Amino acid sequence: MKIRRLLCCALAALVGHEAASAGELRVGAAAVRITPPNAIPMAGYYATRLAEGTHDELHAKAIVFEQDGARAALVALDLVSLARPTIEEARRIIAQTTGVPAGSVMISATHSHTGPLLQSDSTRHAAYGGDTDLARTYTRSLPGKIAEAVRVAEAALTPARLSAGAGREDSLAFNRRFVMRDGSVGWNAGKLNPNIVRPAGPTDAAVPVVFAEAHDGRPLATYVNYAMHLDTVGGMRFSADYPFTLAQILGRVKSPDMLTLFTIGCAGDINHVDVSTKAPQKGHGEAARIGTVLAGEVVKTYARLAPVATVAPRVRSALVRLPLASIAAGDVDKARALIARIGGKDDPKFLEKVWAFKALDVFGRAGQPLEVEVQVIALSRDLAWVSLPGEVFVELGLAIKAASPFKHTIIAELANGSIGYIPTRRAYGEGNYEPISARCAEGSGEMLVETALRLLREAHAER
Ligand SMILES: [Zn+2]
Repeated sequence: MKIRRLLCCALAALVGHEAASAGELRVGAAAVRITPPNAIPMAGYYATRLAEGTHDELHAKAIVFEQDGARAALVALDLVSLARPTIEEARRIIAQTTGVPAGSVMISATHSHTGPLLQSDSTRHAAYGGDTDLARTYTRSLPGKIAEAVRVAEAALTPARLSAGAGREDSLAFNRRFVMRDGSVGWNAGKLNPNIVRPAGPTDAAVPVVFAEAHDGRPLATYVNYAMHLDTVGGMRFSADYPFTLAQILGRVKSPDMLTLFTIGCAGDINHVDVSTKAPQKGHGEAARIGTVLAGEVVKTYARLAPVATVAPRVRSALVRLPLASIAAGDVDKARALIARIGGKDDPKFLEKVWAFKALDVFGRAGQPLEVEVQVIALSRDLAWVSLPGEVFVELGLAIKAASPFKHTIIAELANGSIGYIPTRRAYGEGNYEPISARCAEGSGEMLVETALRLLREAHAER
């Protein structure tokens, strides 16, 4: 049995080798189910919710690209976020079991708020169930599943052509920070709130689409990115949120065998809540509405895609040390006292909880800056992906896109790890939820923009 398997592998390798000629692109795609067991604590909110079932399965999805012997992989998981140790372990296994180098893998979370809470060093996660056996066991199982998705995608490598384009969808996403009548900046200020003057920031309507098909026209994969929170479903059942409907519809249009891989763009301050109407916007109907509208834009964009003259993947990455948010003497005691009151008669206010967990996380680092990765993977002189390690304000993503030398610059946030919110420098002055929550100090987002642009320029200049 073992010998036969080895022989198969050798044969596959031989066939694979023969199939790839110089300058030829090969693409493979795969999905591995990662739906956790029921009763695991769910992620996304400041409350403990134990999962009661599955609306639609969660997946780790992977697309592997190969040209001239060099391989790279894009991976997305239907999870709220991923901690750095999970990324490192997944990459270690990928390097051992596939031909994709560890450093050429970009792994992101879609930010679905109807997935499990993962074990991490976050005090907030621990408080809401991230330290339970279920959460620990599940978190430990993820690197193997991520590597399995890459391994199966690699095994499916097929001579392919790539095309790319970008649609625009400006009816779904809203900046969730608002300039209020009293001059303050509100957050999720509420439907039809008469004190709202205007949004405090922009949105990013771009819907980048990358499509891979075999030479015989068989659809292999569609990569879609959009800058908007995945927090539309709610409830206690697992769901990938709006990308579930997106994938279903694109599968119906192209082929049920095609993989649709969705990543979230810079959406730290962007969600789907339209404050100009009082229509309720929560539940599977809302997720299906959003997935359908987004799919419509992707289907329209299919007709306008331009061929990509691919090169062997060009990968750049940098580790950036971000300064910690400042905490004052006495803050730790104050934070502990607030957290001790959670769930009791004197439950702290929402922003007090947000601040308290931030203060403890920052304190726990004992002055050590946050070390994060920025990665660029380019597949042509027109097309590049950027990873950013948290929930990044849309303005920062727009700044990268505006100055990038690539025609198509696709940014996956919550990629290769997460440090939580990454606001603009301006937002720290304005205050409210995201800057209060941010573990990194003001200026961190702008440092990441600078690093991303340096890596993009390097990858673009490579001969
Ligand atoms: Zn979020």
